[in-house]
Amino acid sequence: MFSSNFKDKIKQKINLLELIKEYTDLKPAGDNIWQGRCPHPDHDDTTPSFRVWKNNDNTWSWACMGCHVGKKDTKDNKYRNYGSDCFAFVQWMSDHKNSKHIYSFTESIMILADKYNIPYCSDDKNNKIASLLEKNYIKAKCFNINLSNQTKKYLYNRGLDDYDIQKWCIGSNLFKSGFRITFPLFDSKKNVLGFSSRLISKQNNYSKYINSKESECFHKRSFLYGIHLLDESCDEIRITEGVFDVILSNKYNTKNVVATLGTAFTKEHVSIIKHLNKKPVFCLDGDKAGQRATYNAVKLLAEEGIYSKICILPNNMDLADLANQKKNDLEKYIQDNSLLYFQFLLKDCSKLFDSKLNELRLNFLPKILDVAKSVNTKEEKIIFNNFIQERFGIKQIC
Ligand SMILES: [Zn+2]
Repeated sequence: MFSSNFKDKIKQKINLLELIKEYTDLKPAGDNIWQGRCPHPDHDDTTPSFRVWKNNDNTWSWACMGCHVGKKDTKDNKYRNYGSDCFAFVQWMSDHKNSKHIYSFTESIMILADKYNIPYCSDDKNNKIASLLEKNYIKAKCFNINLSNQTKKYLYNRGLDDYDIQKWCIGSNLFKSGFRITFPLFDSKKNVLGFSSRLISKQNNYSKYINSKESECFHKRSFLYGIHLLDESCDEIRITEGVFDVILSNKYNTKNVVATLGTAFTKEHVSIIKHLNKKPVFCLDGDKAGQRATYNAVKLLAEEGIYSKICILPNNMDLADLANQKKNDLEKYIQDNSLLYFQFLLKDCSKLFDSKLNELRLNFLPKILDVAKSVNTKEEKIIFNNFIQERFGIKQIC
């Protein structure tokens, strides 16, 4: 994944002696040789078994005479022979009996590049954004390869299968707040702009989801998750909240579902929708917060002359739940259950109007029932009932 030029650049920049001194004391032991106690977590070294030396070509090497790592003879070696350069050192240090994760070769390159602020670049793309995108792409692949069984089990429970996991390049990684599921944030060209990561098990002190920080390539105010799978043949764009809403709708062939990932709908989103020239359909939770968010979003779009449709989801369900329930009928459900802009905006008014009317009806009912006594013939009854229904909206009094 990285060019050999890039790896050489890191090797040249790193003084292995200084790097290893962060883990153990090293003292000169001859020309260009230093020695000290082995820094490996599993090696309780009482004698100085560990050596670092500078080769004639100015490259560095290391070896532990106790662990026999870094030496060519690897017979009876407890650990994999990673080699004897700086990358090997990082991998070897992560490979111990209490290790939660052993770094891959690629990860060891990334760790050192980050530590020494060496910008990522392949040979022809040498600007900062390209470098960030490449770094994110590699991270996404690494996280995906590292996907733990616990995470997979969680994803299966949410209704995903292995195909979905690969399609969205879902992975997992250890963060300060514990293990998180990682979702690469793709732009319309499928560049990885950053990540959304979700805690696997609930922890009170940390947010369930965190998104990458703003950067040259990731701007959360204009980001829509799922935008890379936009289908031109569908003239609507369905807007929802979370990653699972998008992934599961897409799994069941509901097209053009995107999510703002916990960010309120912004003016930047409005200009994207305008540019795409598609009818927005909001599929947000029916709870108060969801309705409030929908109201604000549709008003923002209306200011630009774009009138959305609104699909209010059944109680306590998000779009992901509904997708798992309706499966391939989700598309039809959204079409059949979407309110037009005016219906949504007047929904509360018409509710209030109806309740006031009912109040009035109840006030007048005793009087109406009283005069109904005067109605006797069949013809009179028809005229009376028609009058009451037309005038007061009350059916069949007598
Ligand atoms: Zn050792």
